[in-house]
Amino acid sequence: MPDFRSDTVTRPTPAMRDAMATAPLGDDVFGDDPSVNALQQEAADALGFADALFVPSGTQSNLIALMSHCERGDEVILGQQAHTYRWEAGGMAVLGSIQPQPLEHRPDGTLNPALIAAAIKPDDAHFARTRLVALENTIGGKVLPPDYPAEVAQIAKAAGLAMHLDGARLFNAAVAQTAPADGPAPSRAAVVDAARAICRSFDSVSVCLSKGLGAPVGSLLLGSRPFIARARRHRKMLGGGLRQAGVLAAAGRHALAHHLVRLHDDHRHAIALATGLRRAAQGNGALAGRLRVVDPQTNMVFVEVDRGIGGALARHLADAAIQVTGAERGDVLLQRWVTHLDVDAADVETVVAALERFEG
Ligand SMILES: *Cc1c(COP(=O)(O)O)cnc(C)c1O
Repeated sequence: MPDFRSDTVTRPTPAMRDAMATAPLGDDVFGDDPSVNALQQEAADALGFADALFVPSGTQSNLIALMSHCERGDEVILGQQAHTYRWEAGGMAVLGSIQPQPLEHRPDGTLNPALIAAAIKPDDAHFARTRLVALENTIGGKVLPPDYPAEVAQIAKAAGLAMHLDGARLFNAAVAQTAPADGPAPSRAAVVDAARAICRSFDSVSVCLSKGLGAPVGSLLLGSRPFIARARRHRKMLGGGLRQAGVLAAAGRHALAHHLVRLHDDHRHAIALATGLRRAAQGNGALAGRLRVVDPQTNMVFVEVDRGIGGALARHLADAAIQVTGAERGDVLLQRWVTHLDVDAADVETVVAALERFEG
């Protein structure tokens, strides 16, 4: 059953399960789980940070980061579509007493640097204290332009603000920057170099292990030693201190060692899917002229389906046991197709064939 709902749906591979089964374990709340410690050290070294913290989820990682940068009543500038603002149940407000200052995205996913600068509030008793700028890369499947984070960091630093990156899919951005999807796969070293270069503009970065990298659970938060010391206290406070977490960290270590380069396959499959979808939209069938396909930059293909056929198409795909998410936006059904470790070229062909059979 091809499942394109999200790259979170992957199951651990047999080799990953072996790594989990044989991982040396301790008690990570006491700091003596060797597998967790190795994962944190390896990730910090690879991405150019002094320290790292293994956490249960990306949502918790971002919340810990915001709470470790901001005091109660401080403010973070971020995008309207930022996961941390829109998809994390308002945790920064509920649990951190942190005020979000959202800005509209430009079509490429960036926030206009001039608007960031203008949103930074002066030191005045009327205002929340602006403390942090948070970016996201990839954002809606788009890769931020390589020079953009440094441009924002310059503005942030000049105002004494910290910079956080929600890099849930950092390695998708790094792979896309390193190797075009229609060319040969990059080397692992080149991907790590590109990821480290993206991280350079940030004081903290959160990376998901449980998305395209294929681990069942877990994220990493990276930063300086004092920052991670504060983060460790917040993790404990939020209930994220895990005991024999090495069984999960081993999956993350395996993912970082073996699954970085294969993200290129996901990007290739996304291009093939987009091409097939577009062919269906340009043919003479029931979909002719009724789909608009956005060119994928990484592992997500967004498709606008005319509302008139959206329901019928969703039923047709469900009948073919193809899973995909869709949300109604005005006159269109916006579908999001996500490629990952557990869908292959044959699954993409299954989707294209099912679309070609659609009769409205
Ligand atoms: C998935 C995601 C998160 C949250 O990760 P969970 O592990 O699902 O809590 C945060 N940010 C972005 C950009 C994500 O895609």
